[in-house]
Amino acid sequence: VELDMPELPEVETIKEALKRSVEGAKVLSVEVRSPHLREQVPTNLPQLSSSAQILRIYRLAKYIIIDLNNGYSFILHLGMSGRIKILESESVSYEKHDHVILHTTKGLVIYNDARRFGLFTIDKTDHLQKNHLFEHLGLDPFDEQLTATYLENHFKQKQTAIKIVLLDQSIINGIGNIYASEALYEARISPLRKSSSLTHTDLEVLINAIRKTLTKAIKAGGSTLKDYRKPDGSMGYFQNQHCVYNKEGQRCPDCTCSEIDGGIKRITQGGRSTFYCGYLQK
Ligand SMILES: [Zn+2]
Repeated sequence: VELDMPELPEVETIKEALKRSVEGAKVLSVEVRSPHLREQVPTNLPQLSSSAQILRIYRLAKYIIIDLNNGYSFILHLGMSGRIKILESESVSYEKHDHVILHTTKGLVIYNDARRFGLFTIDKTDHLQKNHLFEHLGLDPFDEQLTATYLENHFKQKQTAIKIVLLDQSIINGIGNIYASEALYEARISPLRKSSSLTHTDLEVLINAIRKTLTKAIKAGGSTLKDYRKPDGSMGYFQNQHCVYNKEGQRCPDCTCSEIDGGIKRITQGGRSTFYCGYLQK
């Protein structure tokens, strides 16, 4: 079974919810119920963060950074199955896989992760740039330095299919399997094209398509967040309206491919599924 991990729009939505709930709050204590995540939760994390105030919460690639006023920052990553629960009340019975609990003056933040590929760690705020997690990160999709010329330089020697290269976090960070398919559909570019074959104009179209696709998903996430949030306060995954992703054999929104050639195709590239319209995407 292929798991859809949280992608940039979901992380962005969860980050916004955290901002609204606990930015400015004071950390009362941190409870580590199980430190065994992708990396061990540092044993001194509770000590380094208790009584600190939460200054700023932002997204860096698919990480959520929580800056404290004592020179430290939490680093969270949802991995494959991480969920964040935000609860106002202190009286709560914990669930299986609730690994880290942040008690704040504005309520609880619970990090839950069944498969434990996620992260909840801490580093000095002024050391984040040098943290090994962020060393090889490419540009954020919304970074203005992400231009057709930037991609041209990175794609020059690449014989690899564009779909696979879009997942390379050292070029553009934050595009996962879902939005790689969706952005290529929006750009009308075949996922099978060699990266080096894309023209300057193709790349401009692709960058716009990536931003449009992600923006749409972030908006959808933001607007559904209220309904999406379950009584237990959990937010993890919301189902976006995708054009091609997971729609093998169906008709894509913009043509009648199902009548022409069997509809949206599913292929495997680099061990992951790719969905595309063979008729519109060239
Ligand atoms: Zn189609």
